[in-house]
Amino acid sequence: AHERYRDANPRSYQQHRKAAEVLPGGNTRTVLYSDPFPITLASAEGCRVTSLDGKEYVDYLGEFTAGLYGHSDPLLREAVESALQSGWVRGGHIEQEEKLARLICDRFPSIERVRFTNSGTEATLYAISAVRAISGRSKVLVFDGAYHGGVFVFKTVQNPLTAPFDFVVAPYNDWDGTRALLEANAQALSCVLIEPMQGSGGCIPASPSFLRQLRDWTEQNGVTLIFDEVMTSRLSGGGLQEMYGITPDITTLGKYIGAGFSFGAFGGREDLMSHFDPSRVGAFSHAGTFNNNVFTMTAGAVGLEKVFTPIIAEQLTERGNSLRERLNEIAAQASFPMQFTGVGSLMNVHMCGGEIESVRDLTGSDMNLRDLFYFDLIERGIWPARRGMFNLSLPMGVLEFSVLEEAVKDFVRVRSKLFT
Ligand code: PMP
Repeated sequence: AHERYRDANPRSYQQHRKAAEVLPGGNTRTVLYSDPFPITLASAEGCRVTSLDGKEYVDYLGEFTAGLYGHSDPLLREAVESALQSGWVRGGHIEQEEKLARLICDRFPSIERVRFTNSGTEATLYAISAVRAISGRSKVLVFDGAYHGGVFVFKTVQNPLTAPFDFVVAPYNDWDGTRALLEANAQALSCVLIEPMQGSGGCIPASPSFLRQLRDWTEQNGVTLIFDEVMTSRLSGGGLQEMYGITPDITTLGKYIGAGFSFGAFGGREDLMSHFDPSRVGAFSHAGTFNNNVFTMTAGAVGLEKVFTPIIAEQLTERGNSLRERLNEIAAQASFPMQFTGVGSLMNVHMCGGEIESVRDLTGSDMNLRDLFYFDLIERGIWPARRGMFNLSLPMGVLEFSVLEEAVKDFVRVRSKLFT
């Protein structure tokens, strides 16, 4: 398969070799690495991307969910063009930052005040650093399988980059195991940080009852609850917290809300966020050069106000749910060990049967089969994330969904035969 892949993508192969001369492994973004080499993209339009080798793909990777709007939304283009006309490195406040902040506060009732960053990673960093400083406590409880940014990965046994922080790693969706750790660390715990659906860990939703128990315990014990909705904020107008009716103290955001430009945000209860009010004595500093950059603020506000309204968010979630059900039906009918987990427009394929409630349930997942599926899709003109993530963008419709459904049908048919 590797040889065929190399023969089909010679320019990407050459590009990778050139890049490796100046970037370690030819890479500046681990998640895009793909053995034997990644395909380089030359352009994008609508919900399609085109490679350096001139091959077109249906874009199911969707810039790891930041590509929600697709590549050519006319209102976003207009917003960016207007920003270009008025200068984009102003070094002062701009009206659009208040506009985007207001749109976010209106959508997420738990966010009374918000601050912008350049990435979800920074949003995590500021959220947990602030809570640690406010509480005077050092520990942060996170979950196995979690991803909160490049240095905040809890998917592997030990991530050396998290060393400066004092993390306690609890079992996701396991209340008894989590409660034991909460109680053992109660005095030293500043906050609990959780993705209400683990994204990078494999689109594994937390059960609403697990989140509710966490909410109740943290409230009773004076521990701050942070929801990382960097990925899940798209699942309804007000994210998974709105869908589940559970209110965190702080929320981190990122991805699509910046309309494809660098973006992150953290926000929450006014009493917590007011520590960043610079008019206060002893205020925390947070002064990123690009926090209010003109492209992100302008396009982000137009996107939320005019394109991805709460009704459109609901529709996209419904379309994602029904596509995922159809894909799972194909595998189930053939009794094939393959399933798509997730919520709404976010999903991940796993090559195993049985219920998946945490990364602990993925130990039997067949990684070779997942890789074969990946290369099969690439060959058929579908662009997923190598780890098996698929997410929908607004320009996608019946045609793009059926391309994926047919690919899954053929894969299951061919592989079922090989197995029997
Ligand atoms: N939190 C979650 C849940 C994420 O999925 C990501 C990015 N994949 C991040 C935080 C970090 O965001 P960024 O890549 O913008 O730093």
